[in-house]
Amino acid sequence: MAEGPYTLPDLAYDFAALEPHMSAQVLELHHDKHHAAYVKGANTALEALSEARANDDFSDITKLQKDLAFHVSGHILHSLFWENLSPDGGGKPEGELAEQIDKDFGGFDRFQSHMKEAAATVQGSGWALATWEPAAQRIIVQQVYDHQGNHGQGSVPLLAFDAWEHAYYLQYKNVKADFFEALWNIVDWNDVAGKLTAARD
Ligand code: MN
Repeated sequence: MAEGPYTLPDLAYDFAALEPHMSAQVLELHHDKHHAAYVKGANTALEALSEARANDDFSDITKLQKDLAFHVSGHILHSLFWENLSPDGGGKPEGELAEQIDKDFGGFDRFQSHMKEAAATVQGSGWALATWEPAAQRIIVQQVYDHQGNHGQGSVPLLAFDAWEHAYYLQYKNVKADFFEALWNIVDWNDVAGKLTAARD
């Protein structure tokens, strides 16, 4: 089985640390099973493409390229999602991040409304992302399908809300809007601010 270069990152907190907003059962399954599957899938796709080159046999290339985009993006977004969350999260952004959000969205409340609505209205599986868009030098909200569709090239994710059913269904059932409301209690704004600084620089 393919090993590396992608690896499942450890969480910086315990499975129960984000309760009651995210249950320990949901977090453990999400990290240990779902995220782990994307890591494995990304490594497998890279390995299969390497074999295709070695054998000069590209008959499966369209499937493999789709697998690569899906699994690599799934791995990257889940890694980001875990970093964005903290048992000490919540509150509001401060400093340059708060100023950027005010400038680009007309206030934090409007930014929150946009993110929540983008997450809650994903058709099928997907994500709401707040990303740094370097060409316009601003933050935009994106509604991503699966892990990779509908994403503007070059845009750097800062904050991710997972809108797949596996992210909430065991805990919130069909009321997914409550999950996206609860997430604000555990967003680590210091992490998001650090990602903004890194993306801008
Ligand atoms: Mn997920």
